Amino acid sequence: MTDPVPPRAEIVVDLAAVRHNVRILKDLVTVDGPVQLMAVVKADGYGHGMVEVAAAARDAGADWLGVATIEEALALRAAGDHGPLLCWLSAPGDDFAAAVAAGVEVTAYSVTELEEIAAVGPARVQLKVDTGLSRGGSPRSEWQHLFAVASDLERQGRITVTGIWSHFAASDEPAHPANDAQEAAFREALALAETAGLDPDVTHLANSAAAILRPSSHFDLVRCGIATYGLDPAPGVSPRLGLRPAMTVRARLVMSKVVRAGEGVSYGHTWHAAEDTTVGVVPAGYGEGVPRAAGNTAHVWVGDSQRPIRGRVCMDQLVVDLHGELPPAGTEVVLFGAGDLGEPTAQDWADAVDTISYEIVTRVGGRLVRRHVDTETDTETDTDADTEDSGRTTR
Ligand SMILES: *Cc1c(COP(=O)(O)O)cnc(C)c1O
Repeated sequence: MTDPVPPRAEIVVDLAAVRHNVRILKDLVTVDGPVQLMAVVKADGYGHGMVEVAAAARDAGADWLGVATIEEALALRAAGDHGPLLCWLSAPGDDFAAAVAAGVEVTAYSVTELEEIAAVGPARVQLKVDTGLSRGGSPRSEWQHLFAVASDLERQGRITVTGIWSHFAASDEPAHPANDAQEAAFREALALAETAGLDPDVTHLANSAAAILRPSSHFDLVRCGIATYGLDPAPGVSPRLGLRPAMTVRARLVMSKVVRAGEGVSYGHTWHAAEDTTVGVVPAGYGEGVPRAAGNTAHVWVGDSQRPIRGRVCMDQLVVDLHGELPPAGTEVVLFGAGDLGEPTAQDWADAVDTISYEIVTRVGGRLVRRHVDTETDTETDTDADTEDSGRTTR
């Protein structure tokens, strides 16, 4: 049997990096007390593979997993996860009964939702209060009513209120006045809840940035998404924690060729060679979630240096400047990775296209094959074999 041909382009996720990051975060937040850690694995683990990341996070000591939707929570249960698990984004008609039966803790934003959940109870419910993000969660004007109804339902044995929580708007900007205001509002909500007779197991407010930058917001639990994947929630602000980016996106060069001075490259000829050069064709484009906005701005790693993308990113491919070199077809190209060799990182891509690293890692996919590796044990997980058999991505 011959070795399988490496894929044209792939996402490689190092689960050892995930475990490493979870241990760092857990150590960080437990310095001053028994704060629990929730690994947030919504949106397919920010593009890293929800099920695999969840298992790695549990292995490394994550006390909770957090996801947005009930479907995501049920997928984790179906994959064999049985630990504490919270979801927080439901829409009318969602299957609360299935979530409750699976031991998933659900979140109520309103009395209507709470009653819908109680109808399929007895359910473990967390209440989300809006302390200033003005997104999901109970508005301040309704806290008292929500807590009173929740307390009533609890006395009737139809629900247990296991948590009360909220979410920051600007925790990546530690000096932003919203942070103090939201934390104060959250403390008011907790006081009102206590007055209403509620005594939740966990209260929580912090995401990754607040877990790292705002110890006063830790309460009983922190919900870490982006930092679990080794990316910095507050670039330029966070202290160095030694987090390790878990995702590498790599491809193999399709061809390289000479481009003469004055010739235009890619659609619309938005870039012209100022002098004779060589370019390489990389088989990944916006069909793989590479931002089209990266045209003429982002870099990729070929050989031993960063090479600028020339012209527009196309649906299936992009073109990079090889500055006179003509590496053979099949040569490895790293779009982004941990940065250890000098290759660009997801943060570099985010900076190049004016977004955040969250969007870069979460959007890559499409035809990319995703493979999980473990640089501590040097073994690959089953998903790799599945992927090779089916020729499809595991996403
Ligand atoms: C996504 C999300 C998080 C995780 O945020 P990070 O900035 O990635 O740590 C935490 N809480 C809620 C409610 C979320 O939606």
